[in-house]
Amino acid sequence: MVGNGFHVRNMFPSNNLGQRLSPFILLDLAGPTFYPGTDTPRGVGEHPHRGFETVTLVYQGKVSHRDSGGNAGLIGPGDVQWMTAASGVVHEEKHEREFAKEGGTLQMAQLWVNLPKKDKMSPPSYQDIGARQIPSVAVDGGEVRVIAGEYGDTRGPAKTFTPVNFWDVRLSGGHEIDLKVPAGQNTGVVVFEGRASVNGSDEIQDAQMVWLDTNGELVSIKAVEDSKLLLLSGTPLDEPIASHGPFVMNTEAEIHQAIKDYQSGKMGHLD
Ligand code: MN
Repeated sequence: MVGNGFHVRNMFPSNNLGQRLSPFILLDLAGPTFYPGTDTPRGVGEHPHRGFETVTLVYQGKVSHRDSGGNAGLIGPGDVQWMTAASGVVHEEKHEREFAKEGGTLQMAQLWVNLPKKDKMSPPSYQDIGARQIPSVAVDGGEVRVIAGEYGDTRGPAKTFTPVNFWDVRLSGGHEIDLKVPAGQNTGVVVFEGRASVNGSDEIQDAQMVWLDTNGELVSIKAVEDSKLLLLSGTPLDEPIASHGPFVMNTEAEIHQAIKDYQSGKMGHLD
């Protein structure tokens, strides 16, 4: 449980990763979980981040967000919030009030993307990407929603600091598609719902994922059942990683500084 509102399955952790999955640090899949109605929205209260980006994609339900930079927003089905914590933000992530009151099913994913050393202390920013802004490319038996990066001629709306592809893929059972990612990128495919195999792998399902080596460009996905998948690929940063909870920096000294800066209020507070 993250806070009291997100029942998550952690696909890969935030600590001791080395370079293998760089620039990705963490992926949590939340739900699908049914929450009964309440007047007190569940979620995660005020907490900091520094040194990376958090990317939230909602499938079902609605989440509200507000941060110390004065940004606030709602993330509903198909929407993405791409938050660049960089030098530091304090934020809260809650079930949206009306959704909480009525009760319902929440299903979402949160991905953490590392920032290169030179950008870790840049000002925080925030991209609120509505479902309608995300181009969907029809493929045989499904669609690829391009959130970040490029699929063929289609470019996703998210601005990234380093080359990253983040695609929301739907594929009907019995169909197979070939996707192409640049050579040299770390590439993973997660099954959120359904059953599939990737480049001839064993079948994966229900929050399992396949990591590919960095040599190839072809990602061949075969859906055994109707499937919801996420494809992530990115150019490794090849820089040292020091991480502690919500802080991901390059050295231990920078982690100590982050803790100090948070505790002394330098990352701000919520109103
Ligand atoms: Mn957070």
